[in-house]
Amino acid sequence: MADIDRIRNVARHVQREVNAGHEVAVVVSAMSGTTNQLVAWARDAAPLHDAREYDAVVATGEQITAGLLAIVLEDMGVNARSWQGWQLPILTSNAHGSARIDDVNGEELVKRFRELGQVAVIAGFQGMHKETGRITTLGRGGSDTSAVAIAAAIHADRCDIYTDVDGVYTTDPRVVPRARRLEKIAYEEMLEMASLGAKVMQVRSIELGMVHNVRIFVRSSFDRPEDIDPHQNQPPGTLICDESEIMEHPVVSGIAFSRDEAQISVRLVPDKPGVAAAIFGPLADANINVDMIVQNVSPDGATTDLTFTVPAADYARANAVLVKSKDKIGYDHLDGSREVAKISVIGIGMRSHAGVAAQAFKALAERQINIRAITTSEIKFSVLIDTAYTELAVRALHSLYGLDK
Ligand code: ASP
Ligand code: MG
Repeated sequence: MADIDRIRNVARHVQREVNAGHEVAVVVSAMSGTTNQLVAWARDAAPLHDAREYDAVVATGEQITAGLLAIVLEDMGVNARSWQGWQLPILTSNAHGSARIDDVNGEELVKRFRELGQVAVIAGFQGMHKETGRITTLGRGGSDTSAVAIAAAIHADRCDIYTDVDGVYTTDPRVVPRARRLEKIAYEEMLEMASLGAKVMQVRSIELGMVHNVRIFVRSSFDRPEDIDPHQNQPPGTLICDESEIMEHPVVSGIAFSRDEAQISVRLVPDKPGVAAAIFGPLADANINVDMIVQNVSPDGATTDLTFTVPAADYARANAVLVKSKDKIGYDHLDGSREVAKISVIGIGMRSHAGVAAQAFKALAERQINIRAITTSEIKFSVLIDTAYTELAVRALHSLYGLDK
């Protein structure tokens, strides 16, 4: 929501659904740019601030839009009231800045739908820690997660996410103009897509949707409310749902990529029990997430190399941790690169098809793209390559698996 006009636009979407006879709960995010501004203020006030006060500051963006939307709705003759996270309440863990939702009380909302026909306008992104009573926030993009949690609590038929794209695409259309919008995508696939770089929704919101079986419809906030007939034409968008709701499964559904990775190679480590623990233990203690891991079997039975990836933002810290444990690990030296990208191919159909990854390795080799590391799981595989080849690789794989229009 950029300004009051956009809020009016949202209100007309709400009004349309109410007039169609639906009971509606709306979860709002802050006006665009607001949360960034609030975060900047908190940092400016003191770089090392109390996370509880950070939450008290950044949660206010949603408080504003919730109140404004309720005002606009009332002005349009729609019965509505705003709710802050603590008022429902939405109870969370006390991990300030990235709290997890523990419980949402939707009873009062349902009662008010039934008795008053009242629309609930709920501030997303925020909640409250039960024991301390303090305001928490759910991490950037957290209003998606608020929306899915509330949808689960009130047993909604569907959770519509109005966002700045009109659905989930086979890959980023800015990289592959021929990317297609998916009509449906299974939770598992979407979870992989979101975790592996597609930035459509907060990852936790998909996890939550999957656990509670909330059907999530990703649609554009730029749709004109008047153009949509709530009973008939389904607007463009992507339904994230259980795989049983999807009739035809292509082998590959989408390709995600991320340039936010860095590679670290620990050279000439002793090839003996306990070395992996000596390397990854301290990294875990430093809260650094290790993703892809490749270890060679040593040719001489004495030393080997161990390569892995960490978030690019943690690259310097990870190196420092390893330097500190150099004697304990007993390696010769460290190598690394921030100029790497992870390309991931995702599809539930991979469960029943062999050789899907092999095709990709061949296609990349034909383009002289070197693979630095590989990981696979049941419904996806990822390759680590030089950043410079990101676009080329994504385009090649997109056509290889028949995803081009
Ligand atoms: N306003 C919060 C943010 O910018 C939450 C959200 O928009 O989902 O991250
Ligand atoms: Mg958002």
